[in-house]
This record gives sequence, C-alpha cells and structure tokens, in this order.
Amino acid sequence: MLRTLSFFLALLGLGLSEKVTFENHKVYRLLPETQEQVDLLHKMEDSVGFSFWKGPSYVNKSVDLMVTPSNLAEFTELMTLNGLKYEVYVDNVQRLIDTENPKTRSSSKDGSISLNEYHTLDEIYSYVEYLAKNYKEVEVVDAGRTSEGRVIKGVKISYQEGNPGIFIEAGIHAREWITPATALYLLDQLLNSTDKNIRALAEKHDWYIFPSFNPDGYVYTHSKNRMWRKTRSHKNTFCAGADANRNWDFKWMSGGASNYPCAETYAGSSAFSEPETKSMAKYIKSVGNKLFAYISFHSYSQLLMFPYGHTSAHLDNYNEELSIGKKTIEALRQRYGTKYVTGNIAETIYVASGSSSDWVKANLKLPVVFTYEFRDTGKYGFLLPADQIIPNGEEILDSLLAMFQEASRLGYPNSA
Ligand SMILES: [Zn+2]
Repeated sequence: MLRTLSFFLALLGLGLSEKVTFENHKVYRLLPETQEQVDLLHKMEDSVGFSFWKGPSYVNKSVDLMVTPSNLAEFTELMTLNGLKYEVYVDNVQRLIDTENPKTRSSSKDGSISLNEYHTLDEIYSYVEYLAKNYKEVEVVDAGRTSEGRVIKGVKISYQEGNPGIFIEAGIHAREWITPATALYLLDQLLNSTDKNIRALAEKHDWYIFPSFNPDGYVYTHSKNRMWRKTRSHKNTFCAGADANRNWDFKWMSGGASNYPCAETYAGSSAFSEPETKSMAKYIKSVGNKLFAYISFHSYSQLLMFPYGHTSAHLDNYNEELSIGKKTIEALRQRYGTKYVTGNIAETIYVASGSSSDWVKANLKLPVVFTYEFRDTGKYGFLLPADQIIPNGEEILDSLLAMFQEASRLGYPNSA
C-alpha cells in the first residue's frame, strides 16, 4: 500500500513535505475541431499528469492544458495521433510563479495591508480584524469551518442596517489568487473611496464579502502546491479534496463534473460532502431574505456569466440578467479596454453542475446572480502578476457600479 501511495505521490509530483515545483511545466492551448477530439480531452481530464487550466467544452472552443515534463512525449503523441492543434501559451509555469508577487513584500504590524501584492490567509484574516477594529460599519462574520478546522471568515459592511444585501464570494478555487486579492481591493474601496458614485454604492447596500470560500486550499497553494484548485478533505485513498464549485446540492453531478476523485472537477462523494460548501450554504440561507444579489469571483478568461450551468436553457430572468451583463461588461471595458464576454454559464464557458451560483439562483431566487472570470485570457492564466491586482480591481468596481445601476433600472431590488 505504501509503495502504491508513494508511486502516486511521485506521479503527482508531490513529495511528502517539500513544495511542488513546476519547473518546465508548460501550458498548451488546444483547439478541438471535432466532437471526437472534445471526447478525448474529457478522457484526459481523468488522467494523471495532465491538469486543465481551462477544461474542454465544445467544438472550436479552446482548452488550456498544463503538461508535466515527464508527460510531454505522451502529450505530443496524443495530439499528433488525434490531429489536435496546439500551441505553447506558458513556456515554464515555475517562472511565472517565481515572478507573480513583488520580490520585496511589505510588512505590517497593525494588520493593514498593501493591495498590490498577494497575501497569505493569515494576512487576509488579520486585515479583516483590522477593518473591524477601525471601521464602525464593519463586522467580522464567522460562517463555518473547513475540513481542516479553519474558520471561514467574511466581512459585513453596513452603513445602515437593512439595506438591500449583496453577497460576494471569492477564492472557492484555491489557485485563483486574483479573486481574494480583488475582494480585499473592494473592501478597501467600499470603506475608503471618496468617489461619490462608489460612496453611494457602498452606503446604499449591505455587503457580505468573503475573501476565501476555500481557506484550506488557499493555504495549500502557499505552502505546497501553487496550482491546487480543490478543498483539502481526505475522504478517499490518494487524492485529496473536491471541487467546491461542483459540490452544491442543486442538480449535483448532472454534467461538467467528475466522479473520479483525482480529477480537478471532482464533485465530491455526495452533494455538500465538503464542510465548506455545506456551512456556507447554511450561512447564505440564513441571510437569504436580506440579499438580492450574489456575485462569485473566479479566474481566468474574462467572462461574466449568470445561471444556469447545468443547462443552456434560458431560465428564470434570463433576459434581465443578459441586459445587466451587457451593461456591466461595457462599463468594465472603458478604463483599460479589457474585453469580457457575457452569457449564461453553460453557453459561455461550459456545462458545469453543482456550482454555488446555480444553487443560490435556484434556492434563493435572487434576481442578480453573476460569476466573473477575471483577467487574463491565458498569457498568465492563474498566475496574474501582482501589478495587475489594482487595475483588475478598478475595472471590476467600474463594472459593479454599472451592474447595480442597470439592476436598479430594471427594478431590482424591488424595495429600493
Ligand atoms: Zn474558478
């Protein structure tokens, strides 16, 4: 058994204690042009040595795949045999990891934080406590526990209790570091901006902002494996964790999720098998009647999507969400020219079931539910350099202003 275990660990590039290196791991962009090629890529999702940065969906939709040096020969053979076109997007993943954060990190004694670098979970949580200490509008929310026993901490900002609520979730996928960083940027702006539009947005709503829905995974991306996506539960033999955004109890395992425990999109042993999703669902429900909007942050691909992911059918208030989506991405583009695409999840990216946004839409019937996939379109992928945190944050805030303006024009929330 031990031998099998270490064999698999070796395959996964995991020593028992040291940090995983991604030296000479490459990311390829592939373009499947037939359904057979799409099917082949789906099969590769369940095999060791290949890690999808952007999974397969439809014919003529590109796919990003990270390949280890030891799997390179097999990869090129598979591509050639099946006539799949590919090009290198990232030549050496480790080089991007090494240059992602500034060389000199700032240090803080009081818990305040610099917004143009990526932070550890401890730093994020100290910042959250710092905000609660320094702003009377801020309250720290303890919304649950992870499988390793960490607290899932959020921030509630309320200038006037009873304002229509907006919930923002970041970091459900551990390696998408730009998402917690952007949540921190928003917290700062909602509390400190002097721009009158931002002030009005901040003060007219109650904000529930969670920088990390997956603290165990996030810690693991710092301590062991920068490219970790899932939770860190240990329910099966050798592959830890489940995809926390395939684990929610709405149309669970009905497409775009895997029942293979080692796959990046493993849906878990059952719906809400992960303590993170189970406790967050409970918390979200407990404040559900105060909310009209739920926003989840992901990276990358520059998309703004709305439910549903399990079907491409145009359900609920599809037309209104599309109208809000269009206004939102138009506003987002103004500042830096960053182009997003909007549409429902299944049509815009791929079929994916068991996501938090589908669950929220179906259970709480909120009119405004969106999922962002932030910068970029693949040059850096999950390893967006820290000097893009603030520009990304600025354009996202521009877009949120437009989102809630258009929502309001459509009568959401009804009480406003
Ligand atoms: Zn994600």
